[in-house]
Amino acid sequence: MDTTGIQFINELELEGKTVFMRCDFNVPLDADQNITDDARILAAMPSIDYALENGAKLVLASHLGRPKGEVVPSMSMEPVAERLAEILDVEVMLPEDNSDHRMVQTLIDDLKENQVVLLENLRFNPGEKKGDSEFANWLASLADVYINDAFGVAHRAHASVYTMVKHFGRGAKAAGFLMKREIEALGGLLDSPKRPFVSVMGGAKVSDKIGILTTLLDEVDEVLIGGAMAYTFLKAQGVEVGASMVEEEHIETAKSILAKAKMAKKTIHLPVDHLIAKQFNVTSADEVATTEGNAIPEGWMALDIGPKTVDIYKRVVNEAGTVFWNGPMGVFESEFFANGTMSVAHALAESNAVSVVGGGDSAAAIRKAGLIDRITHVSTGGGASLELVEGKPLPGIEALRNNHPFNLG
Ligand code: AMP
Repeated sequence: MDTTGIQFINELELEGKTVFMRCDFNVPLDADQNITDDARILAAMPSIDYALENGAKLVLASHLGRPKGEVVPSMSMEPVAERLAEILDVEVMLPEDNSDHRMVQTLIDDLKENQVVLLENLRFNPGEKKGDSEFANWLASLADVYINDAFGVAHRAHASVYTMVKHFGRGAKAAGFLMKREIEALGGLLDSPKRPFVSVMGGAKVSDKIGILTTLLDEVDEVLIGGAMAYTFLKAQGVEVGASMVEEEHIETAKSILAKAKMAKKTIHLPVDHLIAKQFNVTSADEVATTEGNAIPEGWMALDIGPKTVDIYKRVVNEAGTVFWNGPMGVFESEFFANGTMSVAHALAESNAVSVVGGGDSAAAIRKAGLIDRITHVSTGGGASLELVEGKPLPGIEALRNNHPFNLG
């Protein structure tokens, strides 16, 4: 990816400046609002530490969950504020309500050393997701410098990701360190990858992955397909898929992707066997069977790739020079159907390939298996990581360019 005109946090003068840092603190919470995984908070630490060490007054902001433009107390940033205070050993000032602009301004004006401000959930305001100018103007009025380190929402033109950035010019806006790593790892993935270049694609829907699959077919040597999307492809080949999840309306798309691969002499691997059950919610191993071949009997649904497929996929990953993985191989949330996904995670960790994992469920599987240190790059973004690899311009990154129309107009 071309990074012309994008500055990074370490290139800006921050001493004495009030810095608005858009982070992605969208952490999972349990029913008592305890954070169950603080990886996203930890991922922002390099930029936060850097800003504080360089004398910035810091205003942190993020969304959390889907409050749909209303104040939902269970989605308050309070647990994040507590965790941040522990990690940073500073006092985190959390306004009760972002709409009390005077109170927020007073908190910022009165900031002392050893204090940071964390705004309340940005999505409590309907203007955030709409990219509303009025909300963006207020956010921008709070700071001298804008830093975006929220890669997970970089593909959204939201107020705090895109609209507010027009108020900041050269030297006053930059990407944080997390964003920098994502841009380098994902944006550079298609620039002369070590071969063979293998893509492992899984997840629920072909429709979500058509763009990335089509782009990657031009670049990769082999594609391994798993997850529910495999069954649309198998059906397109005339294989019996039983009651497995199929997107009928995308069978033609699957056919054209298979034809494109054949023309380009690229191999698309589909599962050669499966773990199957008669229903989705399985409670005992007795309810699970393994197919002999790729056909699935009537009334049964395939919920994970089978052992022969696992062996083939492991071998291909093992022999790869570069692997890009996105999406689980089966219903990995269930212990009975996690094997395919976990086997791919282990194969990636064991291979010498440059390994890049595009967010979401695959990243969760890597973390669950404790393999994060053995992967070249695990993205913090789901949709954003696919769009960046695909080469689409991401609003949150484009807005940071000094030659963005914002700054020329
Ligand atoms: P995605 O959000 O597209 O990455 O899809 C992830 C979801 O796909 C997970 O919740 C999985 O449980 C689900 N999934 C994976 N394989 C299957 C399958 N064979 N049948 C039904 N759902 C699946």
